[in-house]
Amino acid sequence: MSFFVVDIALPLPLRRTFDYLPADGEAREQYRPGQRVRVEFGRQLLTGVVLATRDHSDVPPKKLRPLLQRLDDAPLIDASSLALCQWLAGYYHHSMGEVLEHMIPTMLRRGSSLAEADERVWIKNQAPPAVTLRGSKQQALWRLFEEQDEWPHSELTSQGFTLAQMRSLADAGLIREQQKLPLPTVISERQKFHTLNAQQQEVLRQISAELGHFRPCLLEGVTGSGKTEVYLRLIEKVLEQGQQALVLVPEIGLTPQTVRRFQARFDVPVALLHSGLNDRERLQGWRQCREGGARILIGTRSAVFTPLPDLGLIIIDEEHDASFKQQDGLRYSARDFALVRAQKAGVPVVLGSATPSLETLHNALSGKYLHAKLTLRAGNARAPGMKLHSILHQPLTAGFAQPVLAQMQKHLSNGKQVLVFINRRGFAPLLACRDCGWMAECRRCDARMTLHHYPPHLHCHHCDFQQGIPAICPNCGSEHVEGVGQGTEKIQDQLSDLFPAFPVRRVDRDTVRTKQAFDNLYDDIHDGGPCILVGTQMLAKGHHFPDVTLVVILDADAGLFSADFRGMEHSAQLICQVAGRAGREDSPGEVWIQTLYADHPQLNLLLDDGYHALALALLQERQSQQLPPYSHMALLRSECEDRGQAQQLLQQARAFMQQWLQQEHSHRHVTPVTLLGPFPAIMERRAGRFRFQLQLYAEERRALHRLADVLVQFLENHKGLNKVRWHLDIDPLDTL
Ligand code: ADP
Ligand code: ZN
Ligand code: ZN
Repeated sequence: MSFFVVDIALPLPLRRTFDYLPADGEAREQYRPGQRVRVEFGRQLLTGVVLATRDHSDVPPKKLRPLLQRLDDAPLIDASSLALCQWLAGYYHHSMGEVLEHMIPTMLRRGSSLAEADERVWIKNQAPPAVTLRGSKQQALWRLFEEQDEWPHSELTSQGFTLAQMRSLADAGLIREQQKLPLPTVISERQKFHTLNAQQQEVLRQISAELGHFRPCLLEGVTGSGKTEVYLRLIEKVLEQGQQALVLVPEIGLTPQTVRRFQARFDVPVALLHSGLNDRERLQGWRQCREGGARILIGTRSAVFTPLPDLGLIIIDEEHDASFKQQDGLRYSARDFALVRAQKAGVPVVLGSATPSLETLHNALSGKYLHAKLTLRAGNARAPGMKLHSILHQPLTAGFAQPVLAQMQKHLSNGKQVLVFINRRGFAPLLACRDCGWMAECRRCDARMTLHHYPPHLHCHHCDFQQGIPAICPNCGSEHVEGVGQGTEKIQDQLSDLFPAFPVRRVDRDTVRTKQAFDNLYDDIHDGGPCILVGTQMLAKGHHFPDVTLVVILDADAGLFSADFRGMEHSAQLICQVAGRAGREDSPGEVWIQTLYADHPQLNLLLDDGYHALALALLQERQSQQLPPYSHMALLRSECEDRGQAQQLLQQARAFMQQWLQQEHSHRHVTPVTLLGPFPAIMERRAGRFRFQLQLYAEERRALHRLADVLVQFLENHKGLNKVRWHLDIDPLDTL
């Protein structure tokens, strides 16, 4: 047998792959890219992925080890997915092995077989005999099979049927049992599609023309303008062509309401992939898509990695949402990756938003993307009226101006619901001593501890450190230690006192810890009756609260003076999203924004002329400052318990890059990449570590990536400063 080695990607941070000898007695033909293998790496047992076989290796023969086991005959990852992983590893300068981990469900990464997703399923027989069923439970069970041919055993038991009842149907020759991959239940209600209004029709026509080839399309449509209806029509067309559709939604946008809307419209299985699933459910969803049983996949960020052999369309709802960017490990943007995936697959991508990111808007305005617009609310709903309310020199009660409280009273008395938005959970953002000015600070971060009352404790929202509330000031012994400012808990308490006749519900991460809790709360709110909802941005997105007619935004000012260059963009998006919750149905909505800066020009532009107008102004600003999207950016971040070392690593990285740039571009006056920093992060110390950053800007993407390549090599081979952790963030979402 001739000599060969297997080139394997291992789930390690190292940006390289590893050569192994084949497992005992196996031939080269048995190895194909995309198969999983088990290997020993040092003392660890790892699951890797075959990338290639070769007839030579740079590793000395003595050092080559045979791999332990080949886990797949047919490749688990197909060639096009492998190519996409190569792209990701290159673009984000990340280890191929770690990139591949995103493509493979956890159970398979641990070495399970595909069959472990199988379940006991009951299937209707082809030509069931005509029998009279006696028991009413048995009749009910049979009716289920008349609606749908297959039912997982677990689903039937959860609906209250017993094994004996299933067996009796089987004995009657009606159904049979099988071990197989269950498909998602089809709950089609054969709902009628709305008749599209003229704008929707036009948009549908424009985007439909792009089906069958790659084309990014921005669907810019105000909240409630009927974007989802357009998605549904596009999906209908894709399904008619025998293709699959992928719908990506923000983390908190994947509500049962959204899902139901898609399930109810189509009589095809709809797969769901989100963080609330267990490993087995994920594997099932992944296989349902990969094997073609599921025709629509709705999922959050990581669903973008799911294999879909007949992919015909990708939809990204709320494309501007920050949850599409992963903030640790492989810092990828699911939106940007979806574009690359669509390009390779030759299918269009619809980027939907009421408040598109400046990147996407820029691409649409320059003609790179199709730009479709919906400017009117669909159906009968009217856009909410927005109003800035100055609180400068105004007396406030519980943080609210009198006219705002009067307005709340009016809406509640009319039987409507009021939403109060404040992006700060807890009771108060600060615990301070009135006698000496002492403040409770986190001992691990440059940050204040947040005071919580339910249950009572101090909590750092940055590192999760928690401690008890001191009864007296640790500095001067005074008893006048109290919370300063207000968070959701305090507002809930105060509003309960001010409006004793109405329930006040709090919606934040502390009250809604699970998806189930949110669904319950949602149902309560939906069942109606006047009430006040006090919430953080959990309330801002995707949800439909038809009885909310007044939205009060309490702390819009916090975002207006952000140190980050995307601060205003993100604030404006949040304000619009929150405002969009008001008056979605027949009763018109109002939005009141309390501010100290009622003459803030950008805030006024947003309110008077809308998000699009503000976005154009912000784009101009970005252009004049050569900031993204007019330049490309990467951020090298370091952190270390030793401040000096965190800073030093970046200084050395900077010196290295400067030298490299000068050598490479000695013929040019200006180097194609501008380096800024290193400087401390805005919160310099977090969780006990000091944080620094170095910013890289380039006009051309290629120049930035060439530099990033050598930078990463430099850092990987760097000796000394071993305690410093670093990462390179390509297209970072913020510089905080
Ligand atoms: P968006 O996704 O832009 O927020 P939706 O598609 O959710 O908007 O539509 C908002 C509301 O308007 C929904 O209740 C939807 O059922 C309704 N709607 C959408 N299009 C129409 C239409 N053409 N006729 C009547 N109602 C519509
Ligand atoms: Zn004190
Ligand atoms: Zn902390």
